[in-house]
Amino acid sequence: MDLTLSPSEQAFRDELRAWLAANDPGEEPEGDEAGFDFRRAWQRRLADAGWAGVAWPEAYGGRGATLVEQAIWNEEIVRAQAPQMANVLGLAMGGPTVIAHGTEEQKHRYLGPILSAEEIWCQGFSEPESGSDLASLKTRATRHGDEWLVTGQKVWTTLAHHAKWCMLVARTDPDAPKHKGLTYFLLDMEQDAVQARPLRQITGEAEFNELFLEEARIPDENIVGGEGNGWMVAITTLMHERATLAFGLQVAVQIALRELVEQAQRTRANGRTAAQDPLVRDRLAQLRIEAEALRLGAYRGLTQIMKTGVPGPEGSLGKWQWSEVNQALTELAMDIAGPRAMIGGDEWSYRFLRARANSIEGGTTEILRNIVAERVLGLPKPR
Ligand SMILES: Cc1cc2nc3c(=O)[nH]c(=O)nc-3n(C[C@H](O)[C@H](O)[C@H](O)COP(=O)(O)OP(=O)(O)OC[C@H]3O[C@@H](n4cnc5c(N)ncnc54)[C@H](O)[C@@H]3O)c2cc1C
Repeated sequence: MDLTLSPSEQAFRDELRAWLAANDPGEEPEGDEAGFDFRRAWQRRLADAGWAGVAWPEAYGGRGATLVEQAIWNEEIVRAQAPQMANVLGLAMGGPTVIAHGTEEQKHRYLGPILSAEEIWCQGFSEPESGSDLASLKTRATRHGDEWLVTGQKVWTTLAHHAKWCMLVARTDPDAPKHKGLTYFLLDMEQDAVQARPLRQITGEAEFNELFLEEARIPDENIVGGEGNGWMVAITTLMHERATLAFGLQVAVQIALRELVEQAQRTRANGRTAAQDPLVRDRLAQLRIEAEALRLGAYRGLTQIMKTGVPGPEGSLGKWQWSEVNQALTELAMDIAGPRAMIGGDEWSYRFLRARANSIEGGTTEILRNIVAERVLGLPKPR
């Protein structure tokens, strides 16, 4: 792949940089609710200026940008250290899934409010006994006239406590083979039959939830991709989750590494700085190499998307590598801090604790390794 930007790509990047420089949103306030409101307002501002969902078709509020421009957007937004968007799952996964498999009516109904963060989305895939083996899920949807009644339990449902819509995969045909009996629904979260109970994480935040469904109602028109096609639609969602995030994540790693080097230069022990310790230097150099491999891998994944039009299994490799680099980076930060790390409470301790989830969220490392082995390298499946 040619890594130099064309004149129009450079112009796109410069316009975005200029907009970001002129629209500094300031510091994010403390507290779950205040922080979320701040991220929602930030996303609204980007959407109003045409900087949300840049690669979505213009007919649905996007900018019709190319995939390279989308990648530039992901890089620049992280480079500017802008706040996260509030509707991260709607933007990265829900919207692209509706664009790929939704009806015209669904595209017009759902995509605009995703961009403006007016309607927040969550992802109801995982269940207490179905995480990696998603196709074994038990949440049941049964048809009653022109609507469906859904009963079951989901877990780890990020943002369910803020969400209006849930990308819900449920079993509609218990007699069909497990991958074939699933349907992909858009569930309205604003009904009594849906209860979200926040789960508190090791970081102290409650980012995700248990989700209890007791005869929740979904009209027929909220099926995406047709009855019984839920597995195929869910795969689209998961591929987008892994592929499109790669660009931002690799820049985030580069920034974190730069901050860690500065931290090592500032931290003194035994008459020298941590940056003068040969073992720390070795680990920093190794991280630098891995961060660069991550960057080049993200470009390689992009080349694949440009060839085929859809994210492929290569995204799994980037997500797996990123989780390892990010965990190694935050572990080194803890080692540099030394015994002070035990007290915690600073930004690095937060990042260290949050990074533990990196090798689970969006597919565990073991599962991603299997995907890379079988679908990227073409190795035989284990019996
Ligand atoms: C921060 C965070 C946010 C999340 N947000 C969401 C969300 O919004 N929506 C949602 O639906 N889910 C979400 N998840 C759930 C996530 O996708 C699952 O945790 C993940 O898919 C693993 O499922 P599980 O936890 O049930 O583990 P299990 O599938 O029970 O796995 C347990 C262990 O066994 C290993 N294992 C399982 N099967 C195999 C195999 N075939 N080969 C080798 N090893 C195997 C796994 O790697 C893991 O180490 C989130 C998770 C986290 C941590």
